[in-house]
Amino acid sequence: MAFDLACPNCGERDDLNGERREDLIVLLCGACEFGWERSLSPSCERCGGADIQTVPLAIVEKGRGTQLSVVGVRPVDLCSECDRDRLRHYHDHRPNPLMPTELPTVGPEQAADSIG
Ligand SMILES: [Zn+2]
Ligand SMILES: [Zn+2]
Repeated sequence: MAFDLACPNCGERDDLNGERREDLIVLLCGACEFGWERSLSPSCERCGGADIQTVPLAIVEKGRGTQLSVVGVRPVDLCSECDRDRLRHYHDHRPNPLMPTELPTVGPEQAADSIG
């Protein structure tokens, strides 16, 4: 089975190494050394669709004051149907990682304000 894969971090398509473990494949990008896992048969938990894209999600931490800073990325699987908007947002902003929907709260008062 051929995999149409690209590194979620840098987009590399050729210099990828895969190692099979049980029912997933551990992938390592030779270009940027980003590593991620991919299920052999990815499917959406919500709609059951098989059109899953692995994209980098930013890991955000609260910095000084109200600043939020991206401290890293981790791969997440998004469904082309259920996560359509988030995927479009990601592709619009490539190569920047996708921002998490829930950001660290800036302060108790602001957090209460921003819910909803
Ligand atoms: Zn890469
Ligand atoms: Zn879905």
